[in-house]
Amino acid sequence: AAAAPAAAPAAAAATPVITGTLVKVNVSLPEAAQRAAATGADGVGLLRIEHLILGLAKTPGWYIEHDAEEEFIAELYGGIKTVLDAFPGKPVWVRTLDAPTDEFRNMEGGEEEPFEHNPMLGWRGIRRDLRSPEQFRLQVEAFKRLWAAGYDNLGVMFPMVNHPNEFTQARAMMKEWGVDVENATLGVMIEVPGSALMVEEFIQAGIRFASFGTNDLIQYTLAIDRNNENVADMYQPKHPAVLRLIDYAIGVCRENGVECSICGQAGSDPEMVTWLVEHGISSVSANIDAVPRIREAVARKERQILLDAARRNA
Ligand code: PEP
Ligand code: MG
Repeated sequence: AAAAPAAAPAAAAATPVITGTLVKVNVSLPEAAQRAAATGADGVGLLRIEHLILGLAKTPGWYIEHDAEEEFIAELYGGIKTVLDAFPGKPVWVRTLDAPTDEFRNMEGGEEEPFEHNPMLGWRGIRRDLRSPEQFRLQVEAFKRLWAAGYDNLGVMFPMVNHPNEFTQARAMMKEWGVDVENATLGVMIEVPGSALMVEEFIQAGIRFASFGTNDLIQYTLAIDRNNENVADMYQPKHPAVLRLIDYAIGVCRENGVECSICGQAGSDPEMVTWLVEHGISSVSANIDAVPRIREAVARKERQILLDAARRNA
């Protein structure tokens, strides 16, 4: 009888592909932390804490009104800690609260939210935190306690910035509340064209990293509502204007030795990621399910870059 075919070597499938460009993962809820870590990702490029907060069904303002700040801080601390524990020794970038006012309206305390005609361009992200220091302080308190507990892999990322003054102001507030800002990993999302054009000034202001939030960057560069199906066909991640902004910002970050990354949906598209690696991005962050194919795309592009360089030198 013919010999049974040899079984495929199981170890081969498990061999991790090593890439120079870090391949990280996006996490929305702490419950997904283990699944995210199982991808072998090099860290978390975006932890969206507003999902955690929206899940509490009460606004941060409600906790303040009801003298329940400690409860809020404990929820945040616990949720973020779950993710940090799943990624020991790997960077985890936590984004400060970034929910538009309309998403808070149905929660307890939501009646206090201002009505806005265009919440996506309104009181959200860093703007909300700077003008509502008591809400910002609760988040910072959770970060502070995590740093004090030894989680020095925690980085904090500010969303919706469009001017370095916002970063400077946020950092000054954190310092006032006792954060060792000189040694904390603080960075920004580049998701407003203004911040892409100002990246050099952000670097001078002391950011340690920048991450492209392409979901919004595309929307604001092209004036295409990311949630409007009437114009969905015009929402083009690879529009030359979007790519030009990204290419410019990557170049400035590279010249200054500042890590630049991507955490928008485009970071889960192998074609886009191939382009980003070619243009010098330092890390990418993808959805959990996309991590393997993104790792593969990165590895393929890096190999090609190395081969081209070797042949030129041959
Ligand atoms: C982005 O804008 O690309 C991003 C990651 O943030 P969000 O999708 O939460 O707005
Ligand atoms: Mg965004």
